[in-house]
Amino acid sequence: MRQVALAGNPNVGKSTLFNALTGLHQHTGNWCGKTVELSRGSYTYKGRDYSVTDLPGSYTMGGQSAEEQVAGDFLASGGIDCLVILCDATCLERSLILPLRLLARYPRAVVCVNLMDEALREGKRIDIKALEAELQVPVVAAAAGKGQGLRELQEAVRQVCEGFAPILPREEQDEEACLLRAEALCRRVLSAEASATPSRTQRLDRILLHPLWGRLCLLLLLFFLFWLTIQGANYPSRGLQWCFDRLGEGLRWLLSPLPAPVQGAILDGIYATTARVVAVMLPPMAIFFPLFTLLEDLGYLPRVAYLTDGCFQRAGACGKQALTLCMGLGCNAAGVTGCRIIQDPRQKRMALLTNAFVPCNGRFPGLLFLIGLSFSGGSGLKGAAMLTGCLLLSFAMTLLASRLLGATVLRGEPGPFLLELPPYRRPRVGQVILHALRDRCLFVLGRAVAVAAPAGLLIWGLANVTVQGQSLLLYAARALEGPASLMGLSGAVLLAFVLGSPANELVLPVLMMILTAATGYGPSSDTEMGRILLQSGWAWKDSLCMLVFFLFHWPCTTTLLTIKKETGSLKWTALAALLPTAFGVILCILLNAVL
Ligand code: GDP
Repeated sequence: MRQVALAGNPNVGKSTLFNALTGLHQHTGNWCGKTVELSRGSYTYKGRDYSVTDLPGSYTMGGQSAEEQVAGDFLASGGIDCLVILCDATCLERSLILPLRLLARYPRAVVCVNLMDEALREGKRIDIKALEAELQVPVVAAAAGKGQGLRELQEAVRQVCEGFAPILPREEQDEEACLLRAEALCRRVLSAEASATPSRTQRLDRILLHPLWGRLCLLLLLFFLFWLTIQGANYPSRGLQWCFDRLGEGLRWLLSPLPAPVQGAILDGIYATTARVVAVMLPPMAIFFPLFTLLEDLGYLPRVAYLTDGCFQRAGACGKQALTLCMGLGCNAAGVTGCRIIQDPRQKRMALLTNAFVPCNGRFPGLLFLIGLSFSGGSGLKGAAMLTGCLLLSFAMTLLASRLLGATVLRGEPGPFLLELPPYRRPRVGQVILHALRDRCLFVLGRAVAVAAPAGLLIWGLANVTVQGQSLLLYAARALEGPASLMGLSGAVLLAFVLGSPANELVLPVLMMILTAATGYGPSSDTEMGRILLQSGWAWKDSLCMLVFFLFHWPCTTTLLTIKKETGSLKWTALAALLPTAFGVILCILLNAVL
């Protein structure tokens, strides 16, 4: 098997090319820094197998950031038969610097000039033959997003691997020389029609990056995203729950010969919890993730970082933290891994420790339930406004926590950082939706189900093991009543958070089980649970305190494990758990005292 590696600046389309070559589904998106790990795949061409490694985007190979080190180490380890270096046809001069630096060390290479379609649209013409003569390695023009140029690339890679292409020794040049050479090369091979009118990206950015209108647009966009999610998820959620209920009845009939405790453990423990998690989580995720991925593919996410950069700077944090928070909206564990895009170690740690301040997808159903129960009166618009408010509160607390960390355990000067704003690109709607559903929805759902099933069994056990006529669950709830009441919560609610630690999506189903154990009557839907809560004297203040605690409490187990992996330290992991919990406890105590 021949070994091929893909290298290039961030956002030149490496993942797109990797997917097109190997048929795999590496995550693509229109912003710099999303690939931080090595991905491997393979393809067969003319009877020979090629193993392809997608390196993280890099400007220098071997620079300071984690991506650069991963890429540099891989190349230095040797054993590569052909290095494919990608360039961006729309900004050729800058992206030629990397091949000029790399070719001296890795002459067995092919240069692939990607994004040719976009360059053509901008009126840029590149003389590929002339570039090939200058660089003295095979050069291929491609538009990986459209599948153009793949055959030519595979052929060029074959030629290099088989030793048909000449390998010339070269002198290594320093940075300055590479820069000058890239400039001179560009003058020879690139011809551009001067365009008098501003590009589409420039026109859009005049509004979307405007200090006032840009921020307003961001707020409206968030509001619209939530509104669509809330409105759209309502009916499918109920439909799914109805289907699961019918399926449950069928299962009950099937399992009726088994002893009652076994039936209970399977149906009321494992099945009921898992079904609820799926019914409540799947519809909002199936709407939220594709919409979010469309924004990502459009190139909007780095603009969010640009618009919020000032706030982060003032809090002593890095503007790129906005990107990791956006990822955290989907899943905090993903957001924590995403913190690798922040170079400065101090600011990276700050982003790691505060990622759980933004509500992940697993918390959305709980937030929506509480908003629906006490605040929105069934109106999707009010619900979306309230959810946007929750997010703004999360954002404000993230900044406050970052500032606190910067003033105490993470003191230091903020480092400089580079944020690239890619051009807006028309999202590939079909592909984006498919990828979002398959790679993100199913991944998050799979994880939730894997946790829900055993947790459901455990909690059912606690609800059904009785001591002196009382279930263990009720004993535990009662034991927590004291501290909970200080925070405006009940013992049952606090216990639901504790037992829901493996995954936030468990909190509501667990609360439902505790209520069942307390009342002896099992609510089968959110609406029914709401009714039971209201009948037991639940007021809007209870909803508010629970909402705040939903926003700020310890991260789920997966996120904590990811933080441990990223920081390699139990001390920082413990701080990551304590910090949001302290915020939640203090805010709840204050609310309880004031209201
Ligand atoms: P990476 O950071 O190098 O892995 O870049 P990605 O593969 O994630 O691509 C960055 C962006 O460029 C994505 O929005 C892709 O859809 C887009 N893209 C990639 N290749 C092409 C292409 O050939 N033409 C066009 N128009 N867009 C492309």
